[in-house]
Amino acid sequence: MSKFPVPDDSCEYFDQEHETMTREQIEALQVERLRDTIKRCQKNPVYKKRLAEADITPESIQTVADVRKLPFTTKQDLRENYPFGLACVPLRDCVRLHSSSGTTGNPTVILHTQNDLDEWANQVARNLWMIGLRPSDVFQNSSGYGMFTGGLGFQYGAERLGMLTVPAAAGNSLRQIKFMKDFGTTAVHAVPSYVTRLYEVMQETGVDPRKDLKLKALAIGAEPHSEAQRQRIEQMLGVKAYNSFGMSEMCGPGVGFECKEQNGLHFWEDYYIVEIVNPDTLEPVPDGEIGELVLTSICREAMPLLRYRTRDLTRVLGRTCACGRNHIRLDRMKGRSDDMMVLRGVNIFPIQIEKILMNFKELASNYLITLTTDDDNDNMTVEVELEELFTDDYGRLQELKREVTRQLKDEILLTPIVKLVPKGTLPVSEGKAVRVVDKRKVYQ
Ligand code: ADP
Ligand code: ZN
Repeated sequence: MSKFPVPDDSCEYFDQEHETMTREQIEALQVERLRDTIKRCQKNPVYKKRLAEADITPESIQTVADVRKLPFTTKQDLRENYPFGLACVPLRDCVRLHSSSGTTGNPTVILHTQNDLDEWANQVARNLWMIGLRPSDVFQNSSGYGMFTGGLGFQYGAERLGMLTVPAAAGNSLRQIKFMKDFGTTAVHAVPSYVTRLYEVMQETGVDPRKDLKLKALAIGAEPHSEAQRQRIEQMLGVKAYNSFGMSEMCGPGVGFECKEQNGLHFWEDYYIVEIVNPDTLEPVPDGEIGELVLTSICREAMPLLRYRTRDLTRVLGRTCACGRNHIRLDRMKGRSDDMMVLRGVNIFPIQIEKILMNFKELASNYLITLTTDDDNDNMTVEVELEELFTDDYGRLQELKREVTRQLKDEILLTPIVKLVPKGTLPVSEGKAVRVVDKRKVYQ
C-alpha cells in the first residue's frame, strides 16, 4: 500500500483540504510557509547575504503582501550560482537534480529532496484528478524524459494517482499510436505541437482516434499555445485538452493546470505565492492587466526560490471558480518576454501569429517564423503548412495567401511575407517547438 492515500473515485478533489481552502485559509498558510521558507533560505550563503541586506527575517512577513519586501531572483542568479550555489540543504539530503534545457541561454540546475519529489508528485496527481482521471485510467506520457521535467514529473504524478502509466516518451509516433491502441490509453500528456504530429500520423495510417482509441482527456503544455490551437487539438482527437503549466525552477509540470471549466490555469497557492508585476517597474499590476509572472516556492526544501522572475507574461483572471477551488486563476501564457520579437519597432509574440493561422481550416498546425534583413530592411516570413489535399488550384491558393496576409497585418501591424508550403515540409520537433528563427543582421 502506498503511504499516500488516494480518495474514492467519486470524490471531486484529490486533496480536498488544500484544494478547497478559503482565501483566508490560503493566505494564512502562505504566511506560515513563507516564513519557513525564509528560514531555509537563510541557510544558503547567497540568500543569507541578500536577506540580511534587505533587513528581512521570518518575522518581517506579517501578510502575504509582505512578500514584496523580498529581493527578486532571476535566471541569471541561477546561472551565476550554477550548479549548487543556491542549495538550502546539504547535498547529501538531495536525491535528484533536473537541468533546464536552456530554451534561452545556458542550462540551470534545480535540486530536489525526497520530500520535494513527493510534493511535486502530489501536485501533478491533483491536476490529473481534477480533469477527471482516476486509478482505472491508462496514462501515456508522450513527452521527453531525462532532464526535461515533463517526463519524470508526469510519471510520478500519474503513479501517485494510481493510474497504469505508459512512459512512452516523445517520438516514434507509430509506436505511440500502437501503444494507445494496444494498452487502451485513456489519457495522454504531450506538448501541443507533438499532439498535432501524432494526429497527422494517425491520419496517414488510417487510425480514427474517435473509433479506434479510448481517449478521454489530454494534458497539453510546456510550450505556449493559443486557444485556437487547443480547440483544434480537441477537434482532431475528439476529447478535451487541458492546459498544463510548469517550469523546472518551481519543480516542473504541476504548478498550474486547468480544471474542467477550462477558464484559465489554477495556480496552487499552497505551494506558490503568485505575483504579476510590470516587467519595467517591477511594481504589481492590477488584476486583469498583463505583466510578468513572479513565483515564490513556499513548500520546497532543496532549492526554494524567492520572487523568481519567470519572464512569462500573463494576467489574473480571478480567485474563485465554479469547480470549488479558490486558488488564483491565470490566463494562458501570452509568451515569454524573451520570446518577443521586435520588428521595425513593433513588439510581436509568436502566439499572435499562431492565433490567426489557426483560424484557417485550409492550414495545418505547423508553422515557422523567420526574421531576415534584406537590403537593410528587416522582414518577417511566415511559412505555414497546407492541409493535405486542400487544393492545387493556383488561384485559390493565391486568394488564401492574400487573406492570411491581410489578417496577420491586422494583428501585428506589419505585412509579413506568407509562404504556403506542402504538409510535412517544415521541421518537426519532438520537444518544445521552435517557432522563430532570427537571421537578422545585428548592427552594433
Ligand atoms: P526551459 O524551457 O527553459 O528549458 P522548462 O522546461 O522549465 O525550461 O520550461 C518552463 C517554461 O516553459 C515556462 O517558463 C514557460 O515559458 C513555458 N511553459 C510551460 N508550460 C507552458 C504552458 N502551458 N503555456 C505556455 N508556456 C508554458
Ligand atoms: Zn476551476
